[in-house]
Amino acid sequence: VSEYRAEAETESVSVGGKVPLSLPRKPLRIVVTGGAGFVGSHLVDRLIARGDSVIVVDNFFTGRKDNLVHHFGNPRFELIRHDVVEPILLEVDQIYHLACPASPVHYKFNPVKTIKTNVVGTLNMLGLAKRVGARFLLTSTSEVYGDPLEHPQAESYWGNVNPIGVRSCYDEGKRTAETLSMDYHRGLGIEVRIARIFNTYGPRMCIDDGRVVSNFVAQALRKEPLTVYGDGKQTRSFQYVSDLVEGLIRLMEGDHVGPFNLGNPGEFTMLELAQVVQETIDPNAKIEFRPNTEDDPHKRRPDISRAKKLLGWEPTVSLRKGLPMMVSDFRQRIFGDEKDMDS
Ligand code: NAD
Ligand code: UDP
Ligand code: UDP
Repeated sequence: VSEYRAEAETESVSVGGKVPLSLPRKPLRIVVTGGAGFVGSHLVDRLIARGDSVIVVDNFFTGRKDNLVHHFGNPRFELIRHDVVEPILLEVDQIYHLACPASPVHYKFNPVKTIKTNVVGTLNMLGLAKRVGARFLLTSTSEVYGDPLEHPQAESYWGNVNPIGVRSCYDEGKRTAETLSMDYHRGLGIEVRIARIFNTYGPRMCIDDGRVVSNFVAQALRKEPLTVYGDGKQTRSFQYVSDLVEGLIRLMEGDHVGPFNLGNPGEFTMLELAQVVQETIDPNAKIEFRPNTEDDPHKRRPDISRAKKLLGWEPTVSLRKGLPMMVSDFRQRIFGDEKDMDS
């Protein structure tokens, strides 16, 4: 684990290199649901750069056109405003199904809508996969492990989830989405892939989405205190978005259904994270303690042995290397306009 936290060794842990930029085959037609969001838009960038055609389906609940504006006008790119809770007819070869709010603040905003998105939305995308014979990838979450009693979490762990709690719309929703995917696979022969994603950060995250990395970075830049919830000793493992996108593409292109944990095993307490943010942005940033939210998992760290072995994948960007790339994006989005006005 320590090698994922340390700076010096990050270069040496890379295996297999990147998926090649252009593939010696006919371009694929790929739909990315939730493609206007944080992870989705980075995935779209890679698929377009590789030479494939991409249709983004997004209702813009948490996504933004800004994340995709650089593809407007490209004939291989199409953006459809659509809610995945409603059926849709498309002709595609692959479906990356990401549509779902990911931040606790957003998914608790309208919990019934969140569970509909996870259940009915996933059902519709599986129905689409069945009708056109497409391969379907679900972005599930480490939250399926709940407040885990096993540490680190391997894919074989069934989790410790409160079925009636405030996070259930999301974690039970994703568990049902996994069940649906496996039943379409086993019962109807649909080619499915399941990724269990651990906390991911990077450029284009919503600035005010309430997640810990975006909160701390925005707070430090705005000279506000960093809000640590609870005693700050709870842990998370933070993955840079390019590592995740690499893992998702390898999973889609590979032969294994999964589920696969995709995350960075470098584990940090929230107080340690606050310290890294202080070192990166402002050593004088203050820390302020706030009450923690309900059902907050105490610790979380992925066991990524399966992804290493079967996908040849592991993260290459440590927190100390990834954070500055996110900081420059946040700085630009928070202060960009003000600076322009000054000059
Ligand atoms: P995000 O909120 O930035 O992106 C989600 C996208 O889905 C947004 O563009 C949103 O507008 C769209 N969307 C939401 N509901 C929709 C609906 N009903 N119909 C159509 N579009 C809809 O979140 P993200 O961080 O990019 O997460 C992407 C996926 O990865 C999600 O499925 C999330 O559960 C999963 N995931 C993310 C993380 C993480 O740390 N970022 C961790 C675990 C799992
Ligand atoms: N569906 C969709 N697009 C398609 C095919 C299906 O949105 O191209 C939806 C369909 O409306 C249904 C869901 O996917 O609500 C599941 O479809 P499936 O054919 O598996 O189930 P059925 O319609 O037989 O209940
Ligand atoms: N958290 C925090 N300060 C914040 C936001 C979150 O200390 O401003 C804590 C939160 O209580 C949780 C951890 O950071 O223990 C990760 O929270 P986040 O919402 O980013 O993701 P998730 O809980 O889904 O892993």
